[in-house]
Amino acid sequence: MPTIGCHCSVCSSTDPRDSRLRPSILVSYDGRNVLIDTTPDFRTQALRARIDRLDAVVFTHAHADHIMGLDDVRPFNFRQKGQIPIFAAAETMASIHRCFQYIFDGVKKESNTPQLDARLIDGSFDLFGLEFRPIPILHGRQTILGFRFGSAAYLTDHNDIPESSMEQLRGLDVLFLDALRYKPHPTHSTVDRSVKTVEILAPRRAFFTHICHDLGHERAESLLPPNIRLAYDGLEIHVQ
Ligand SMILES: [Zn+2]
Ligand SMILES: [Zn+2]
Ligand SMILES: [Zn+2]
Repeated sequence: MPTIGCHCSVCSSTDPRDSRLRPSILVSYDGRNVLIDTTPDFRTQALRARIDRLDAVVFTHAHADHIMGLDDVRPFNFRQKGQIPIFAAAETMASIHRCFQYIFDGVKKESNTPQLDARLIDGSFDLFGLEFRPIPILHGRQTILGFRFGSAAYLTDHNDIPESSMEQLRGLDVLFLDALRYKPHPTHSTVDRSVKTVEILAPRRAFFTHICHDLGHERAESLLPPNIRLAYDGLEIHVQ
């Protein structure tokens, strides 16, 4: 947001929280930075958040708004003088390889390309002492991944959470949930649906993300219970 060409009240809002780049989070702990998704805005996000190292990237799925900034990890290769591991489910990794063929084709290039160590997600995996547990969620006809790490979970793009995944989301301090808009959408959750998910899972706090211009930050938040807030660009929180 704003949406290109749109002049609605939210797209014209002067509240900085109504200006949203594509969805992504950075998980920082023990001096490590793990990024979930490389959006087309990754370069801007990395500069704005003053990220000076990147230790791994974890992907939820291969839609353009979640992968297209991958090439911009190159400065971290230079700074850290090494490969960066990237983690994705097999289908997502195959799409990433198709979109960024020049990174993975093994052909010696005349100039630099990202140096990546591609690893397939097949169950929980350890990153620098923190377990990342993949949580399958439904994004239309596709099954994609959310992630639980410690007492936090990040579930972007979904319109349904299978019961077996719900069982893995108990006892959370922080839960991030897709809440695109109020009207139903074939591949995304709504505000009502995500409020119900929060009621069932009872995390201490929840943040809604992947929000479209149907939700003005201030008004939408005023209609939510106090333990549910709208995430916004630059939001930093500490997880218990
Ligand atoms: Zn608009
Ligand atoms: Zn998507
Ligand atoms: Zn998306």
